[in-house]
Amino acid sequence: VVQHGTPTRHVDTTCAYCGVGCSFRAEMQGNEVIRMVPSKDGGANEGHSCVKGRFAWSYATHKDRQTEPMIRDAITDPWRKVGWEEAIAFAAERLHAIQSEHGKSSIGGITSSRCTNEEVYVVQKMIRAAFGNNNVDTCARVCHSPTGYGLKQTFGTSAGTQNFKSVEKADVILLIGANPTDAHPVFASRMKKRLREGAKLIVLDPRKIDLVRTPHVEAAHHVQLRPGTNVAVMNALAHVVVTEGLIDETFVAERCEAKDFQRWRAFVAEERNSPEALAETIGTDAQTLRAAARLFATGGNAAIYYGLGVTEHSQGSTMVMAMANLAMATGNIGREGVGVNPLRGQNNVQGSCDMGSFPHELPGYRHISDDAVRAEFEADWGVPLLDEPGLRIPNMFAAALAGSFRGLFVQGEDIAQSDPNTLHVHEALRAMDCVVVQDLFLNETAAFAHVFLPGTSFLEKDGTFTNAERRINRVRPVMAPKSGLSESEAVCRLARAMGYDMAYENPSQIMDEIARLTPTFAGVSFARLDAGPSLQWPVNEAYPDGAPIMHVDGFVRGKGRFMLTEFVPTSERANRRYPLILTTGRILSQYNVGAQTRRTENSRWHEEDVLEIHPHDAEERGIADGDFVSVASRTGATMLRAEISERMPQGVVYTTFHHPHSGANVITTDNSDWATNCPEYKVTAVQVTPSNGP
Ligand code: SF4
Repeated sequence: VVQHGTPTRHVDTTCAYCGVGCSFRAEMQGNEVIRMVPSKDGGANEGHSCVKGRFAWSYATHKDRQTEPMIRDAITDPWRKVGWEEAIAFAAERLHAIQSEHGKSSIGGITSSRCTNEEVYVVQKMIRAAFGNNNVDTCARVCHSPTGYGLKQTFGTSAGTQNFKSVEKADVILLIGANPTDAHPVFASRMKKRLREGAKLIVLDPRKIDLVRTPHVEAAHHVQLRPGTNVAVMNALAHVVVTEGLIDETFVAERCEAKDFQRWRAFVAEERNSPEALAETIGTDAQTLRAAARLFATGGNAAIYYGLGVTEHSQGSTMVMAMANLAMATGNIGREGVGVNPLRGQNNVQGSCDMGSFPHELPGYRHISDDAVRAEFEADWGVPLLDEPGLRIPNMFAAALAGSFRGLFVQGEDIAQSDPNTLHVHEALRAMDCVVVQDLFLNETAAFAHVFLPGTSFLEKDGTFTNAERRINRVRPVMAPKSGLSESEAVCRLARAMGYDMAYENPSQIMDEIARLTPTFAGVSFARLDAGPSLQWPVNEAYPDGAPIMHVDGFVRGKGRFMLTEFVPTSERANRRYPLILTTGRILSQYNVGAQTRRTENSRWHEEDVLEIHPHDAEERGIADGDFVSVASRTGATMLRAEISERMPQGVVYTTFHHPHSGANVITTDNSDWATNCPEYKVTAVQVTPSNGP
């Protein structure tokens, strides 16, 4: 990475790692990036950055980049480099053949939250219009799909309520299942600043995350809950609010559905939902729960921020609704310093969901069964659309193993490493007749592919990303696509080869189509984004300049809806054979499956995933710090190095999943959220034993 020299030109663009969406100026010498400088006027970062955005971009020019299309008849054959035309024709012919033999619904695709809104939009359009079915899903399935479901049920829209700046007005921050200092560092700095100014912090996390231990940031309460008991905690907090008269009666009377509220109030008031009744299940004392509830309800502006520790559970959607209930009950919605705020993992999770990547929803979260909505798209796209939802990712795998689903287009997601129970995923991929991978590298999924279409890095993309605060940021190319073709154009060519005429002169035209068909994007265009600051959707007649804070005068659905949140323990239980619970997360210098960060200098800070284990659990098993250990679950087994750590409570172990050889997802299970099928990555019963190493 060159970090010196005088730039000859610059390009303003957006970081392609996490959902904070920091703006950067790429400083160039000719066609080479020499520095990424965080932008002072970046709406999300105001001049700040982290080690990923600032230093981890050299993967874009890494020697492993694949820049030529490749095909092969069988996954045991060597790859054959071919031209674009041949690769597209090969893919189309195979996909057509599958449909002729097995029916229209025997193929589908997955969109990527790493790609631009425009790239995601064309993939879902290709699947609906050219493949002729709704078998489109997104990698958000495995992270924030419960956020989409839960917030839509309660508030009426699938998005976080606040802008990041809002945290500067928070008096109490309830942080649940998120570790922002590692996963969302620039937002974490903003949060820490507010905490140093005196805001109080309540942390719900099994692990002592950095914010619990940061100097000058004293967590008022750390509820070190047992993994899998989130909903029990929220019900206990709500019980205190209801039974101690801490409800914001005016807010609830004016803004919420009365009948649902009364039903919820009676439910949480039941003795079985009291802190005393639930403390043992949760693994904490009732006093801590009571004190946390009182602080949240009476401490001024109270804001909830959360991460995948909320969503990646069998009750992920229930938990999202439980947080929304608590925010409404205490009147913490619709102004600065409050709200329910998902900290999105990938750069464009919000956008990939907005763009209609779900099998049941067209762009703008409108249900495929809605005749009027479908008619609008049919008229614009000139093709009839199916009114039945298609398959979700796990259903695609199940159908593949049953023989009815045989072709898959995968846009920039390494499902063979990132999805749970990876051996099951491998089997499903192996059962397919045509897997098309569009990616930068020959990733783990490409091992099961028949067609490889080279993708573009963020330095080659022209489009937009939407961050966790609904901010639509411009992504501008600093260099031409290394493969000679943009990802959108490659998808349009495949759609045409499949018989549906889809073409755009440039990505700006794609955004114009998105704006035409998506009410929340009605006022968005490249011209507008290029001329002024970024915009936070909705941008339309009602909100001509966007909406940094949502639900100000009323909820998107009209009145807020309280939902019942019965706590149902996960079926994944520890027992004598698997006595510990494994939970997973990320580390600052690496990103997700590491396909990018491992190909940058950031790797020197984190060369392998390790297993954090409490000293007592380690001693009991004769494990010393740095020893290799075998980690076995009901699903599979892997080997990691042990790191003895006081951060973990007894009975819980933790690892990251940045390296393919660590195989963290070989041991995660098929359990998933009841409403959305988001995998339960955060709770896996395991046995840990000493090992001699590889
Ligand atoms: Fe990129 Fe997120 Fe770091 Fe910002 S905080 S520089 S968006 S990885």
